[in-house]
Amino acid sequence: MIQHETYDCIVVGGGPAGSTVGTLLADYGHRVLLLEKAIFPRHQIGESLMPHTYWTFKRLGMLDKLKASRHTVKESVQFFSANGKASQPYYFPDHNPHECSYTWQVKRDEFDRMMLDNAREHGVEVHQNALVKRVLFDGSRATGVRAVVGDRSIEIRCSVVIDATGQATMLSGQLGLVEPDPGMRHGAIFSYYHGAVRDSGRDAGAILVVRTPDHNGWFWFIPLLDDVTSVGVVGSPEYLFTNRGNDPMATLEVEIERCPILKSRLAPATRIAEARVRRDFSYHARRIAGDGWVLVGDAFGFIDPVYSSGVMLALKGGELAADTIHAALRDGDVCESRLAAYGSTLVQGMEMVRRLVHAFYDPSFSFGQFLRRFPDYRDYVARVLIGDVFNDEVGRMFDAMAEYTAFLPPITLEQGAAR
Ligand SMILES: Cc1cc2nc3c(=O)[nH]c(=O)nc-3n(C[C@H](O)[C@H](O)[C@H](O)COP(=O)(O)OP(=O)(O)OC[C@H]3O[C@@H](n4cnc5c(N)ncnc54)[C@H](O)[C@@H]3O)c2cc1C
Repeated sequence: MIQHETYDCIVVGGGPAGSTVGTLLADYGHRVLLLEKAIFPRHQIGESLMPHTYWTFKRLGMLDKLKASRHTVKESVQFFSANGKASQPYYFPDHNPHECSYTWQVKRDEFDRMMLDNAREHGVEVHQNALVKRVLFDGSRATGVRAVVGDRSIEIRCSVVIDATGQATMLSGQLGLVEPDPGMRHGAIFSYYHGAVRDSGRDAGAILVVRTPDHNGWFWFIPLLDDVTSVGVVGSPEYLFTNRGNDPMATLEVEIERCPILKSRLAPATRIAEARVRRDFSYHARRIAGDGWVLVGDAFGFIDPVYSSGVMLALKGGELAADTIHAALRDGDVCESRLAAYGSTLVQGMEMVRRLVHAFYDPSFSFGQFLRRFPDYRDYVARVLIGDVFNDEVGRMFDAMAEYTAFLPPITLEQGAAR
């Protein structure tokens, strides 16, 4: 049962963003309640991590747990063009020979459970099978949540409500703040295979990003533990879901059949799961915080899966939000301007990833040509792929890139503009 009537913070959602912000706020000494609607382990997509997650894992006390886990060690990403040509892999340790350049391909049900257990160990009061229905407001000020915990409907009060509900976007949905990202409307169909052809040596844990031969999309190929490989195809909803019948598995199989690289790698493999579908996953909220509330992780926004940035941004956002919320609680002032302060840093980093994503999808843009013209920027591309985007230097590359591709308008945050 819920232990207290009021909390400093209620975190809604126990994915990577919720676990991170909850753990760090508990470390600061705040009384934190985390409500998660599922009972873990539960499936989630987002298996390939970026190396820069290292620094948040270190702060969370997760590094030794991950090192001791069976998750696949990842040290590179390799891209394949539509005609099947393989790029030189980006080996992260070659860019920075430090253990922070190694990361993991994680089975998310296990990884998320590790993160949630870690939050509990740090003092977060965690409840699963706890569905938050609404955030409660007194005027513009969030004051708590209404939730169904087990079979009991209850109201719980707090100083700050943190929405970490992922793509459910509970609070930004409630406030009408969700903006789809124009020009990034994609969908994905994915499944899991046992016994696929995988690379060996230092390439054994690489994520492969393979463009489809007809330029209509791309595949991910992510080697997980127990010889299971996660395979998904991403494309426009029109391409993947219109006039393709109502059988996503059939669509995925057709796409694999049409792609010689995927076809040969999956030839000896057995499919071990049904196809899953995700769509309309690129969006952000127009605000990131208000009086007594904050959005973190996918509950604020998600860019696109092509560079595997989602969990890194969820972790980094959770970390930035925790520091900001702690300072606001300490000063007894949890107004919007204090809580929203973390947004500018987060959005600046997100924008770096978003621009590289945009260049990937621009059919007129060629990374090969760009890097031949500006070889020094190969290092900057590697830094974005690592997740090293919270600095001013990488932005310089995009000034040069802007001559070759017209970027989408940047994400801008409003204050106090809920409908
Ligand atoms: C097709 C696709 C592929 C992707 N691939 C990658 C990848 O390779 N690498 C990567 O880093 N990222 C990837 N991502 C992104 C990644 O899935 C997310 O960025 C990441 O999971 C965000 O973490 P989160 O904690 O914000 O949300 P989530 O992981 O979604 O966690 C949210 C939690 O909130 C809970 N919840 C929801 N509503 C409520 C409620 N009302 N009450 C209580 N609990 C609630 C949910 O049960 C869930 O456990 C991918 C995304 C997509 C769509």
